[in-house]
Amino acid sequence: MIANIISKSASSSGVAPNMSDYAQTYAGFSWETAAQSLMGLPDGRGINIAHEAVDRHAQGPRAQQLALRWLGRTGVTRDFSYRDLAEQTSRFANVLAGLGVQPGERVFVLAGRIPELYIAVLGALKQRCVVSPLFSAFGPEPIYTRLTLGGGSVLVTTASLYQKKIADLRARLPQLRHVLLVYGDADPVDIADTLDLAALMREASTTFVIGPTAADDPALLHFTSGTTGKPKGAVHVHGAVVAHDATGKLALDFHADDVFWCTADPGWVTGTSYGIISPLTNGVSSIVDEGDFDADRWYRILAEQKVSVWYTAPTAVRMMMKGGTELVHQHDFPRLRFIASVGEPLNPQAVCWGLDAFGLPIHDNWWQTETGGIMLANYVAMDIKPGSMGKPLPGIEAAIVKRCGEDAVEIITAPDVEGELALKRGWPSMFRGYLNEDERYRKCFAGEWYLSGDLAKCDADGYYWFIGRADDVIKSSGHLIGPFEVESALMEHPAVAEAGVIGKPDPVQLETVKAFVALKSGYVPSEVLRRELLGFARKRLGAAIAPKEIDFIENLPKTRSGKIMRRLLKARELGLPEGDTSTLESGA
Ligand code: ATP
Ligand code: MG
Repeated sequence: MIANIISKSASSSGVAPNMSDYAQTYAGFSWETAAQSLMGLPDGRGINIAHEAVDRHAQGPRAQQLALRWLGRTGVTRDFSYRDLAEQTSRFANVLAGLGVQPGERVFVLAGRIPELYIAVLGALKQRCVVSPLFSAFGPEPIYTRLTLGGGSVLVTTASLYQKKIADLRARLPQLRHVLLVYGDADPVDIADTLDLAALMREASTTFVIGPTAADDPALLHFTSGTTGKPKGAVHVHGAVVAHDATGKLALDFHADDVFWCTADPGWVTGTSYGIISPLTNGVSSIVDEGDFDADRWYRILAEQKVSVWYTAPTAVRMMMKGGTELVHQHDFPRLRFIASVGEPLNPQAVCWGLDAFGLPIHDNWWQTETGGIMLANYVAMDIKPGSMGKPLPGIEAAIVKRCGEDAVEIITAPDVEGELALKRGWPSMFRGYLNEDERYRKCFAGEWYLSGDLAKCDADGYYWFIGRADDVIKSSGHLIGPFEVESALMEHPAVAEAGVIGKPDPVQLETVKAFVALKSGYVPSEVLRRELLGFARKRLGAAIAPKEIDFIENLPKTRSGKIMRRLLKARELGLPEGDTSTLESGA
């Protein structure tokens, strides 16, 4: 049985939380005050993300503290103190300046999680370029589309990725002036129209003065996950760092002596906002793991690196659940005190699994590429209702609304009524545009509200509950069915590892619910199991909501950021075109 509520005492670790009383902090919060935790550039020259994340610590008492510990695939470890990071990022900024790359130009980084990626992102921000990290597993076409859409004039990548994926495209990328290659342990060779980054870095100075940077200057370009369609390029500004910093304190409860591990790749917004910026602005030590998911290795990292705060995703949690708790219990995590998750709804089962496995519940939080930072969260010092995304961050006004015409919304104040999740515009990390899609950007707003495209409800205690993306919600015989509810019910069955649910057109019911189910190891698909699952779901959900059909599937199609692509399940089921699959995980 899943608990309806997990008391905040389950999350207490002896470390006093930054926010001990949610209501009080929410009432007293202002972004102006939050901004005072940051420093701003000297002489009133504005605010720059890299200065807040790196330079100000390098010039202060944290200079020698560990900023990043990189765990290489082959077992090599590299440590960077705040001072090291300041010097390396200054070198990179000088490399750009030396090549004549101007503020505002777009710098793309296509690499696995290697130190050069982190140095390039922060160094490019110092030179006030707009930086866009891409997933290294993208194929040539998705890379080409993004570089072209973003007008990238600089690309940092590895020699092997360049030769495999970009060399043949180069003639089609006339705006791409400089390609800077990382050779790693290999000897540099002469590759036409490219430069050896290490050689340039060696020659560059370790000091760099960041030029005037306005809070509204563009800083980051992030492409959305492509879960519901073609990925959009969301533009973020330097002033967003106020939200990166404050959400790290409030939602992730960063303390100065924390060791933090964000498992997301910087190709996805979580891997930048919380894999790079937020832990650094808060002066904590971050772990960067180059390797891919492997439950046993992950547990070892948590134990050996003494991770205290861990930010991961539902897809990873479900994979760990698949492996069982015995594997977890072979390790000790004496310092681990807070676990959070983002990216998809976190099934109640998964929240509670955290308690069995780690002795800590998993704290779900909600945000989007567009919001730049965490917007709704479950906090250390707040009871958890498993399955809920929690409550709005201090400084964020959220509401459930109904669109009324072009530019207005009606706010739904009654509890437990479904509507669209909206946020009052104006928080510092709000995106400032979709690249080359002005009309689409405009349509995200109605008056003072940003409309998220997600359906949710808010209960009488102010907790928000995810229902589904507006595009994924199923309409059946007058019911509005969120796939998440059906998937979570199926996951309560011991055989089910993961489920993806879609609506299938039906002449009578408009749509019927169909589920695709991946089984845990040790279970095999059979007609008996299918019938058992249909009955199990009907008992939990009622006949109107339960799936009418269940198919077994080895792996659900997912984005590279780990989200179930229901639109692909649907297209494949109905024999329709698959649309943009650039972010599809390989093999799915
Ligand atoms: P695209 O916009 O290209 O379809 P995407 O929406 O998946 O892709 P992201 O910005 O990476 O791109 O993801 C944000 C979305 O992820 C949210 O709008 C929401 O649907 C989902 N999401 C994120 N966190 C949660 C959560 N905690 N609970 C439920 N859904 C979540
Ligand atoms: Mg989206």
